[in-house]
Order: sequence, then structure tokens, then C-alpha cells
Amino acid sequence: MPIVAMALVVVLLGAFLWLLHRSERDEEALALIKDALWVEQNLHFQLTSDEDKLERLADALNREQPDLRQFAAMARMVVNTNPAIERLLWLDADGRTRMAEPPSGGGMAVPDGEPGPSPRDDAFRIARASGLRAYSATYRIDPSDTGFDAVFPLHRDGVFAGALVGVFSFEAMLTHHVPWWFAQRYQLEVIDARGTVLGAKSRMAVPGTMTGAAPDPARSHVIPFDPPGHGVALVATAYPTDSNGTRTILVVAIFGLTGSALWSLWSLRRHIAGRLRAEEALRAEHAFRKAMEDSLTVGMRARDLDGRITYVNPAFCRMVGLSAEEMVDHGPPMPYWLPEDLDRAEAAFHDVLAGRAPESGLEMRFQRANGERFDALIYEAPLIDANGRHTGWMGSVLDITERKRSEELARQQQERLQQTSRLITMGEMASTLAHELNQPLSAIASYCTGCLNRLRSGRFDTQEVAAALDKLAAQARRAGLIVRRVHDFVRKSEPNVAPCSLPQVLEDCVGLMGADAARLGVRVELDAPADLPPVPGDRILLQQVVLNLMRNGIEAMARTPRAGRRLSVTVTRAEGALLTAIRDHGCGIAPEIAEGLFSPFFTTKSEGMGMGLNICRSIVEHHRGRLWFEAAPGGGTRFLFSLPLCSESSS
Ligand code: ADP
Repeated sequence: MPIVAMALVVVLLGAFLWLLHRSERDEEALALIKDALWVEQNLHFQLTSDEDKLERLADALNREQPDLRQFAAMARMVVNTNPAIERLLWLDADGRTRMAEPPSGGGMAVPDGEPGPSPRDDAFRIARASGLRAYSATYRIDPSDTGFDAVFPLHRDGVFAGALVGVFSFEAMLTHHVPWWFAQRYQLEVIDARGTVLGAKSRMAVPGTMTGAAPDPARSHVIPFDPPGHGVALVATAYPTDSNGTRTILVVAIFGLTGSALWSLWSLRRHIAGRLRAEEALRAEHAFRKAMEDSLTVGMRARDLDGRITYVNPAFCRMVGLSAEEMVDHGPPMPYWLPEDLDRAEAAFHDVLAGRAPESGLEMRFQRANGERFDALIYEAPLIDANGRHTGWMGSVLDITERKRSEELARQQQERLQQTSRLITMGEMASTLAHELNQPLSAIASYCTGCLNRLRSGRFDTQEVAAALDKLAAQARRAGLIVRRVHDFVRKSEPNVAPCSLPQVLEDCVGLMGADAARLGVRVELDAPADLPPVPGDRILLQQVVLNLMRNGIEAMARTPRAGRRLSVTVTRAEGALLTAIRDHGCGIAPEIAEGLFSPFFTTKSEGMGMGLNICRSIVEHHRGRLWFEAAPGGGTRFLFSLPLCSESSS
């Protein structure tokens, strides 16, 4: 619209200027015609008045024959008082000059290079023939001037007696009879039928006119000048007006300004279009960001350098059950902090502001608006603006309540699994234990029978009976120990961490696995120095780890030649820890098996459960230790676990 309006303004302005110009040209042309007509009339008037004087002189000559001196005086007066009359001639009836005033000078009446009768002779003949005043054709009256003759016939007593000739100069006519103001505005020229300039009055040269080229018809006006006739005409040409230059400058300025206004409009339009595009892109970006923020399940919370909340996302609002308005601009204490835990929240808050927020995240417990509590894991990062200035902190808040619950559930399940695993192990070992118990029990029975036989025979040695009873008691104690071990092992109990002697644990395990190992022809070698310091741990759980590793080692040697079936169990002191190694000479562990070895339910055995190693690692890590394995030099595998020493023993 503005462009169209501006274009219309330009068109109207152009039309207005054109109309103005045209009306000015019309006015100028009208003024030119009026002025030209006026000047022509003025010249005629002057010519007529000059001719009247010549007429009167001719009349005087007609009436009486003056003497030459008298005529010369009269003629001189006429020539002197009428500047347009250059010369006066008195011709006799044959056309010969009787008298001339001034006697010599211009007025030779012979046109340049033209042969034949002179223009004056022609006019003389016409005047003689007609008896009326006649005008000659124009001719050069002197080298710098052109003029014509007015021939007045003289009659005496009805007989042609000669003629009076007035030589008129165009230059003089123009000089004396054209007013100055006319010359200021116009160039006035007298031209003949061929367009030759015969005389001119001008302030300056008008381009085109002096060179003989046709003058601009819009600026010139041609009026026939008759008398003298013979195609002589007056040409008035207007000077180019000075105002034209100023007007041109004005027009150029107006069009220039309009052009620059149009250009500004166009660039403004481009600028606005660019802005609109940028705004559109910004809106799209904003919508995209908003959609992203709304779809986030992670709470986002921005704070300024003073700790005031400047922004919260919908996920955070949902998490704490408060609206964004209720939180934005809120400083500590925050409405979601636990009332009984304000000190810790405040301390964490100051840590964040001081840039000491832990990189691994900070676990906090928050309270929703409905009083419900939840565990949150918060990561804080500095907020940097577009100029690289630090303007606050952006926190991402994860609701980890569910995760913690499932972790707790997993832990409980693990515990139950351990329990189950222990029961399985117990079941597997029941026969072994029965076998083990069988031996002390049968020993007890035979000691008992021997003692009874001696007592009944009445021939006994008290010392001998007492020794047998001692052995019997020892066997009973051993049986009791085995029973207690089984009882301890299967009793469901929470981890009972206490200083625990690892050599003792290993000894117990070797004892428990002894029968099994013997059945399969495996030699168990135990190297456990008794003077090693204790480790903090649950004896029963540690036993389970060792039993599992020993059983795996024994089973791995099923295909090993009997002579090579050796299982060595060693414990050594390492840097701040005790390192236990159970080395077998079995089949080893292929790389593809090694990958899943510690995964739950991973087994290569038809009757295996695949939980053993997984549980072992959980137990060792629970004791802040580490469990791993390596291929043993000379074949087989070595399972190792380290357990940190009690702090006072390690120091
Ligand atoms: P399970 O003994 O019930 O299979 P484990 O978790 O104790 O479950 O062991 C998983 C698997 O690891 C075993 O099936 C066996 O293939 C492999 N494995 C464990 N210990 C050894 C070992 N000492 N030598 C070779 N393979 C072993």
C-alpha cells in the first residue's frame, strides 16, 4: 500500500510539474506573440512616421523646384532626426542621382554579387510605373548593415519628375525603435525570404539562430514585415528563462527525495520482512523448546546468583506439587524443603551458590505440597548468558524415589536369593555332612561298645577306659561342631559384620568340602598363616564365597587326569587388605564364557543355577572388596578376592 501511494504521489507530482511547465510555456508563447506583435506595430508606426516625413519632403519637391542647397538642408534635417533613415537621395526622371544626403557613404543599392538591375532600380521603375510609393528588396547598405529603399515618385505638373529615395537601415531601426525591455526578454531579428539575418537586436546569442538553424518554434514567433515586404520578416525569440535552472534543480531535488523516500520504504519493508522472518523462527524455536520442556520428565529449576528461583519447568512443578508462580522469585527456605532437615538443605544451597555442588549429583529428600515425600537427585550447572556472564545456576532434579524403592527391593530379593542359594548348598551338602557325622558317630558307638564290654567283663583298667571315653567325647564334640556349622550356615540372619579370621574361615571351608573333594579325587592344599590380622565381615557369608569358589574349581577339574586334580587355597597379606586365591587345574574359562560369568543365572552346567559367582561378587563388594579371576599359569583358573583389613590392623 505505501509503495502504491508513493508511486501515485510521484506520478501526480510529475503530472503537476508537467502541467505547470505547459501552462508556463503557453503563457510564454502568448506573451511572445503579444510582444512580437507589439514590437512589429511599433516598428510600423515608426516606419510610417518616418515615411510621413519623407512624404512631406516629396510633396515639397512636387510643389516647387527647390535649389539643391535647400534640399540638402531639408534632407539633412530628416536624416539627423530620424535615425532609421540612413540616407536620402533625389533621383531625376531617369533615375540618376541628383542629390544625396549625406553625399557619400552607404546606400550603394547594389546587392552582394547580384548581377542585373539593383533593387533600387526595380523599386524606382515600380514607383515610376505606378506613381505610388515603392519599396526595394533588401540589400547591403554598408559592409555591416542591411536595409531597403522607400521610393517616393515625384510629379510635377502631372509629369513624372524623378523620385525621392529614403534608405532605411534595419540595424538602426532595431537599435532605436525596439525598447530595452524587449531586448532583455527576446532576441529580435530581421530575416529575408531565404532566412538570412539582415539585422538583429539581442542581449546575447540564442543558440541555433545565428548558425542559420531553424529557431525553436515554441520559443520564436515570426511576423511578416510589410512594408518593406519582399519576404522580410521579424523573428522574436524568447531567451531561455533563468528560472529553468532553479526549477530543474528543484525538480531533481523533489524526484531525488521521492526516490530516496521510496528506497527507504523499500528497505524498511525488507527490514520488516526480515524481522517477521526472524520472529517466526523465534516463535518456532520457542514452541519447539516449550514442547521439549513440557515433555521432559526431569525437573528443571533455574536460580539467580542470590539463589532466587527464576524458572521452573512443568516437570518440577508436578514433582513438588506447586505452581510456577508459587516458586518463581522465591528465596530460601524453599517450600519443598523438609521442615526437620532445613539445616542440611540450607548448607547444600550455600554449597551450590559457592560453586561446590558435587559433580556426581546431590541426593536430597523433598516434600510435595500434599506432604508426600520423595527422593531427589540434583545436578547443578552454572547458567551462562549470551555474553558469557555467569547469571545463576540451573539444576536438573530427578525423582529417584521409585529407583531407590526398586534398589531396595532388589537388595531384598538378592538376600532371599542368597538364602535360597544357601539352602540349595545345604541340601547338596546334607549327604556330605551325614557322611561326616557317620564317622564320628560310628567311632562313638565303637568306643561305647568297647567300654561296655570291658566294664561287663569286670577286667578292666580304669586308665584305659578313661582314655577311650575321652576319645568318645572328642568325637561327640566334633559331631556337635559339624551340626553347629550346618546350623550356622542355614540360619537366616542379617549380615553380621565382626572381626573375622580369614584363615579360620578357609579352614572351615576346607573341612566342609573335604569329603566332596576326596570323593572326586581332588587334593586340597590350604596355605593360610594363622597370624594374619582379622577382616571385618560376616563369617557365614565369607564361607559361602569360599565354598562356592572351591566347588566351582573342583567341578572344573572333572576332566583333569586324577593325578593333576589339585585345588590350592591361599591367603596372603596385600596392601591394606587380605588377598585370597583359589586356584584349580581345570578346564579354564573361554573368553566367550568370561563375558557373562558374573551375570545372574549364567551357567554351563546341566544342573547349575548360575547364581554362585553373582552372589559371591555381591558379598565381596558388600565387604568393600573386589572379586576377579585370571587364567592360571600352567592351566586352570585362579579366582581372587581381596578384603580390606580392619582400620586399626591396617594402620
Ligand atoms: P553354577 O556353578 O551354578 O554354574 P556359577 O555362577 O558359580 O554358577 O558359575 C557360572 C559358570 O562359570 C559355571 O557354569 C562355569 O561354566 C563357569 N566357572 C565358574 N568357575 C569356574 C572355574 N573355576 N573354572 C572354569 N569355569 C568356571
